[in-house]
Amino acid sequence: MKKRKAVFLDRDGTLVVHIPFLSSPEQLRLLPNAVEGIRLFKKSGYAIIIVTNQSGVARGYFNEAQLTIVHNKLLTMLEWEGICIDDIYYCPHHLEGVVEEYRRVCDCRKPKPKMLLDAARYHDIDLTKSLMIGDSECDVLAGKNAGCTSVLIRDTARNDLSITPTSADYIVENLLEAAKLFT
Ligand SMILES: [Mg+2]
Ligand SMILES: [Zn+2]
Repeated sequence: MKKRKAVFLDRDGTLVVHIPFLSSPEQLRLLPNAVEGIRLFKKSGYAIIIVTNQSGVARGYFNEAQLTIVHNKLLTMLEWEGICIDDIYYCPHHLEGVVEEYRRVCDCRKPKPKMLLDAARYHDIDLTKSLMIGDSECDVLAGKNAGCTSVLIRDTARNDLSITPTSADYIVENLLEAAKLFT
């Protein structure tokens, strides 16, 4: 059977408003145009897979159970919009964490590609036909390291970005603009 194509989506600053170490479902706010963008991708046959670094677990700001509550709420919010997300992968680790079991250098924290590679194996995805979309260079590099096309969402509120170099294949304002490029 033919492998699927996928959009790997960063969570904070890409799908939802970035709140540092977001730990409660009440803090979730979908970014403008995100739903419309994902809808276009789904219509074009892309699997949608969220890949997110959540070092707040290692740092002791929240635990995996709380993170799961946040993610279940996020999935519900998207279901209300008629969108089914195929999977969520997260990295709970960090070298400077305070929670022993998560304090380490791991293979999953972006820019490493393990979350994308694991998802590709499990969901039978062709990485060369897939996109990694995110608002930071570690997303771009994770995409490149996995063999995907990389798309950087530029946060126009941050004024340093005009001078920040990026190796992204494409730069867009938001998810909808990305979807219009690839659907
Ligand atoms: Mg981000
Ligand atoms: Zn990790």
